[in-house]
Amino acid sequence: MIIVGNPRESGADLAVVLVNTWDTYDDPHEHLVELQDLRDFLRIVGRKEAARSATRRDLDDVKHLRARLRRVFDARDVAEAAEVLNDLAAEAGAVPRLERRGGDWHVHFGPGERSIAAHLGAVTSAALIEVVQGHGLSRFGTCAAAPCTGAFVDRTKNRGKRYCCELCADRAAQQNHRARLRA
Ligand SMILES: [Zn+2]
Repeated sequence: MIIVGNPRESGADLAVVLVNTWDTYDDPHEHLVELQDLRDFLRIVGRKEAARSATRRDLDDVKHLRARLRRVFDARDVAEAAEVLNDLAAEAGAVPRLERRGGDWHVHFGPGERSIAAHLGAVTSAALIEVVQGHGLSRFGTCAAAPCTGAFVDRTKNRGKRYCCELCADRAAQQNHRARLRA
């Protein structure tokens, strides 16, 4: 599993890491096969309570959520992404809530992490709605290093991000280098 960004703090990064638990690069493509895989994923993204309480049913629900989030990264226009995100936010009850952590107040969306799929759905949809609000679809992308089609959110200033992770960027650079040597 490739972790990019900060999925513990950022809902957009959480969405990306979740979407990329199914990829077209690794074989097998599926990284959430067993319940234990879901528990490992939840621990990695900082949801310890959810990792402890996850069941087989949560595994199915999270995979269903993942498929819907993927549609946002593949969307052809804002209307398509908006439909998916609005439905997800409504179903997950993505209502903002102020919570105090240490001395600081933070905004959280939706139910606590024990309602695993709803929690993940609320956090990710709220974050992606904000990305769409600020930038339309211009920040959403999929990896250009075939056969990978990993999802990413582009935060570069010039919006030049083309690859989902460092590994793919290196792989593409090597492919380009070999192609130049052949030419
Ligand atoms: Zn990639």
